[in-house]
Amino acid sequence: MELPFAENYRIKMVEPIYRSTRSEREKWIHEAHYNLFNLKSSQVYIDLLTDSGTGAMSDRQWGAIMTGDESYAGSSSFFNLKEKVQDLFGFEYLLPVHQGRAAENVLFSVLVKEGDVVPGNSHFDTTKGHIEFRKAKAIDCTIDEAFDTECEYLFKGNIDIRKLKLVFDKYPKEQIPLIVVTLTCNSSGGQPVSMANLRQVSKLAKEYNIPVVYDSARFAENAWFIQQREQGYRDKSIKEIVREMYSYADGMTMSSKKDGIVNMGGLLAMSHAEWYEKASVFNIMYEGFVTYGGMAGRDMNALATGLDEVTESEYLETRINQVHYLGQQLIDYGIPVQRPLGGHAVFVDAKKFLKHVPKEEYIAQTLAVELYLEAGVRGVEVGTLLADRDPETHLNRYPKLEFLRLAVPRRTYTNNHMDVVAAGLKNIFDRRNRIKHGFKIEHEAPIMRHFTVELKKY
Ligand SMILES: *Cc1c(COP(=O)(O)O)cnc(C)c1O
Repeated sequence: MELPFAENYRIKMVEPIYRSTRSEREKWIHEAHYNLFNLKSSQVYIDLLTDSGTGAMSDRQWGAIMTGDESYAGSSSFFNLKEKVQDLFGFEYLLPVHQGRAAENVLFSVLVKEGDVVPGNSHFDTTKGHIEFRKAKAIDCTIDEAFDTECEYLFKGNIDIRKLKLVFDKYPKEQIPLIVVTLTCNSSGGQPVSMANLRQVSKLAKEYNIPVVYDSARFAENAWFIQQREQGYRDKSIKEIVREMYSYADGMTMSSKKDGIVNMGGLLAMSHAEWYEKASVFNIMYEGFVTYGGMAGRDMNALATGLDEVTESEYLETRINQVHYLGQQLIDYGIPVQRPLGGHAVFVDAKKFLKHVPKEEYIAQTLAVELYLEAGVRGVEVGTLLADRDPETHLNRYPKLEFLRLAVPRRTYTNNHMDVVAAGLKNIFDRRNRIKHGFKIEHEAPIMRHFTVELKKY
């Protein structure tokens, strides 16, 4: 018989987690104002809030921590990371930062000004936040297929070249400082961008002389999908694919809390000396000196090792397999999810799941709270709360899709945990028609409200 698939690692340190009761959870979520971000982690059994900074480092990474160089300037850890970044992505200039949004802050301080527009594929919330904070506008040019959860298109992260060209033709070049391509596209379901699309974006951008920057949080997962799904890449290594992807970009921002497989950190890398010079000034002001940014030497060492591990096929196969193991169970139960399954998370289509909850009562949030109560599992709303209000009209922005995102931390849980998550959702699915109401907002912040919003039962 064919041998089944199994993880390419074994475990040498464990962390106990507490299985709470439903009545404990009812009390806790009430005290948290029905916002899952307000829960203590000890009140969560299986935490799928995010795959950001929640992964387990390898023995090699912990080893690299011990040899970190904590010199203020010119540490060997910095050069170690710089060499890895140059080797993988081909960018000459590197600025370490404390996390992904800091890279956005530093780069956009150089490039983005009031009145600008920044086209891209469903910008991540912090990216959009940093654009809008500068009174500029993020324009979503994602292909329409991404918004139909049943459409099995293989590269739903792709940019619609027609939409992009419309933006280029509508606005003067001086008002379009850059294009941001997010790999994989988190907001539309961890969906990859194809190599062909990256090539087309680059070609059009060159015609209009507009730089392309990749938001690179999950670059390796994106490369894995290219290897698996795109013609002509099956026999290429992940590192070769990454190298080609980045040959079409001018720079990158990266939260290394995802595909860096470290718990904190980020980077900004680019090929233009002029950007680097200007960005260095902001880096020194906001983050730290140019050879450490927001990172300790030991953490830069762990990141350099993480970048090496994440671009190995064995790692990626194990990783994506676990996400798909969870997703396939949900599909088998008839639960509507974004198809095809993405890289880091399973996105449950909450609008199709909870048909009786009106959109004004936060459908995906309602499902997220239900799952916590049912199984002690913490997912996250990717819906109306996350979409925030329109900065001009201050009305709720109702996104096309309302998701409950179940993000799987790297190398952290076993497939038994995935079984619990799937069973919890199945139980809710069986009684879905009795769920008719969600929540109303009691208190919210003016920007990025989902982190701190306080809700009341409708
Ligand atoms: C996480 C993330 C960011 C922001 O990174 P932080 O490290 O959380 O600041 C930006 N873009 C994408 C696509 C991300 O997933």
